[in-house]
Amino acid sequence: MTPVSTAAGSAIDALPLPVLPQADAPLEKIALETYVPLAKPSLIGLSRAEIAAQLGSIGVAPAQQKMRTAQIWHWMYVRGAQNFAEMSSISKDMRAQLEQHFTVARPEVVAEQISNDGTRKWLLRLPSGTAGEKAHEVECVYIPETDRGTLCVSSQVGCTLTCSFCHTGTQRLVRTLTPGEIVGQIMVARDRLNDWADRDTPNGNRLVTNVVMMGMGEPLYNFEAVRDALLIVADNEGIGISRRRITLSTSGVVPNIFRTGDEIGVMLAISLHAVRDELRNELVPINKKYPLEQLLQACRDYPGASNARRITFEYVMLRGVNDSLEDAKLLVKMLKGIHAKINLIPFNPWPGTKYECSDWDQIEQFSEYIFNAGYSSPVRTPRGRDILAACGQLKSETEKLSARERQALRAMAMTD
Ligand code: SAH
Ligand code: SF4
Repeated sequence: MTPVSTAAGSAIDALPLPVLPQADAPLEKIALETYVPLAKPSLIGLSRAEIAAQLGSIGVAPAQQKMRTAQIWHWMYVRGAQNFAEMSSISKDMRAQLEQHFTVARPEVVAEQISNDGTRKWLLRLPSGTAGEKAHEVECVYIPETDRGTLCVSSQVGCTLTCSFCHTGTQRLVRTLTPGEIVGQIMVARDRLNDWADRDTPNGNRLVTNVVMMGMGEPLYNFEAVRDALLIVADNEGIGISRRRITLSTSGVVPNIFRTGDEIGVMLAISLHAVRDELRNELVPINKKYPLEQLLQACRDYPGASNARRITFEYVMLRGVNDSLEDAKLLVKMLKGIHAKINLIPFNPWPGTKYECSDWDQIEQFSEYIFNAGYSSPVRTPRGRDILAACGQLKSETEKLSARERQALRAMAMTD
């Protein structure tokens, strides 16, 4: 240590080291609760083998289990039956027995808002599973367009991660959703839109044609449940939304990216948001665990990626942070050799955020640069502004409510 000659100097040396604000905010949060199964389980979200096992547990003979499972599957996922009584191809006794032990209940709708452009959002209540504990809530948004209808689905209540521009990142993680609660969101949408097959429309003209896992939560931190749910959603003998019409968005949980392609086979979207590790560490802190090079390698290795099945790179436009032309150039360079498209998302501000949305001119210049480099670079215009405008107006309301609004607005900004 350098000797100090002045009294003042020694006094300073004697001071305890200042407590600096932690440079490294925690990457991940711990779930506060786990799901506690309900007394009467729902058959929604179970695989065929699991349904058969449940039937076995109430005394259905093994020789009958396969046929009964197929019937129940059809009633639940093609016809959208809300209870066993409706399942008229199953014997009355069997229906009564099923009713006694199981449900086909989906999340309860506590609020529905309909925009004059047709966008709808539902606030859904999920059981907390713990006696006396407040029910949990997630939101699900339906965005109709001329050639499709996209449903934005949540995978967790809250999120483990702490992305600095995302409101969910500032909230605690409550728990992950079960496969039934994830499939249940699509079923609620079909219920409310009257979008189940009937005799007149056995196959075609569904309103919900696409699903994006872009609601609350990090889907790849709830991998098994998301996988099991999406396999049901894509099942041809049920809801039947093809894998090409399902997109899973991740902040970059590298070890589960390959598994997503391999075990689920859906379209992939990456929340990129920055082209330099230093900045991405700040915006999307999981980057410290899985830096850009690893993330891009996982994209190169993504099973099934091709020119017809491109990976979407989401890029939120933050004024003065990641929106320079230099960033656009680096972005184009970085994506070389990857079957990619870029989705520019205007930042949706929330109370207390330090970020602002880039100026429109800047977004256009950025977009033009990447377009000229050969990438489609749509800037998503938010939909359903009339019902979501409440977002900005609800600033003084609870944080939770504005977070939900933001989730929806953001989701809408991003459908393809
Ligand atoms: N956790 C996953 C999926 C949900 S977030 C993920 O991060 O990919 C869906 C998208 O919304 C992500 O691209 C996320 O980065 C983006 N997003 C989060 N907060 C936003 C905000 N305030 N404005 C615009 N987009 C936002
Ligand atoms: Fe979680 Fe995605 Fe928000 Fe990051 S952007 S905190 S991963 S929901």
